[in-house]
Amino acid sequence: NKLRVGLLFGGRSGEHEVSIISARAIAQGLKLEANANKYEILPFYIQKDGVWQSGVIAQQVLESGVPQEILSTTPNLWQFPPETAQVELWFPILHGPNGEDGTIQGLLTLTQVPFVGSGVLGSATGMDKIAMKMAFAQAGLPQVKYKTVTRAEIWSNPCVFPKLCDEIEATLGYPCFVKPANLGSSVGIAKVRSRQELEVALDNAATYDRRIIVEAGVVAREVECAVLGNDNPKASVIGEITFDSDFYDYETKYTPGKADLFIPANLPELVAQQIQEMALQAFAAVDAAGLSRVDFFYVETTGEIFINEINTLPGFTSTSMYPQLWANTGIPFAQLVDQLIELAIERHSPVN
Ligand code: ATP
Ligand code: MG
Ligand code: MG
Ligand code: MG
Repeated sequence: NKLRVGLLFGGRSGEHEVSIISARAIAQGLKLEANANKYEILPFYIQKDGVWQSGVIAQQVLESGVPQEILSTTPNLWQFPPETAQVELWFPILHGPNGEDGTIQGLLTLTQVPFVGSGVLGSATGMDKIAMKMAFAQAGLPQVKYKTVTRAEIWSNPCVFPKLCDEIEATLGYPCFVKPANLGSSVGIAKVRSRQELEVALDNAATYDRRIIVEAGVVAREVECAVLGNDNPKASVIGEITFDSDFYDYETKYTPGKADLFIPANLPELVAQQIQEMALQAFAAVDAAGLSRVDFFYVETTGEIFINEINTLPGFTSTSMYPQLWANTGIPFAQLVDQLIELAIERHSPVN
């Protein structure tokens, strides 16, 4: 008897397309080697408008990789296909808002069926860069200087805004990074070098989110560590990303050839160890489970390591950093998805 795995992908986020590619890779992995005898895949595709598709339509999207949007025949977007009742374990591979942020995790918790990855708290804390940074600060993890700003401060009060910009200039200086708190794939992020750019970027970020964060820019190498496990998680070897663009923006992330991954990163052994320890601390700090990719800035000249962020549902395509880090640590793709499923079952058991 095979375990029926509900593969949940697509989603109402800017990372919809990436999610489909991740799901295709995972579906492949579930058909490889020993997995083929253990798991049966039930695909569930969430359209960009939030409508759930199952069966033939979901299978088509999974096979073709092409998003679909069929007009819903019911007024309730939250009406779920009847096949959801057959699912014995959920594998959500949704990136960004409405998938990586605890919303889906709350729904899956209510189904009382185990699911891969972090629960509500870990997902929500990891997604919101302000909550995440508070948790990291409490854990004593080094971070760049930052300031939090609200949409209300940016839009509603003409007296507050100039003061706010003054404060950012005085405490963070240029260049600084303006980010909506709850996004991924660098969507809505701007690197700014002047007052005018700062004002435009804040206004733009406020169109994405009520919560905004501004960070001091660092000149550093970008390195990432994968974490796998529940209460006794393991850290992978470190990977590095290099690119020629101004920063690791959306275009650089998703245009083939614009960024290169190096695994393992060429780092002093001690630095690699420190990064692994910090990745595990970060995982615990936000209460992540199953998997996460933790991103860092390494300033070679001073030896400083700053944590940038945690991603609780990182990109999972066959060329993504997360599975590649594990492949280089001795866990090939098919074994990785198998272990994630085992971890979901472990976490769901009554004592956990
Ligand atoms: P992901 O797709 O990994 O979820 P994200 O949208 O959450 O990304 P960040 O990782 O916060 O965004 O930032 C995206 C990129 O912007 C970083 O990889 C880096 O290139 C650049 N960046 C962000 N913050 C800083 C900073 N404080 N100093 C220098 N570069 C930065
Ligand atoms: Mg992120
Ligand atoms: Mg992300
Ligand atoms: Mg990032």
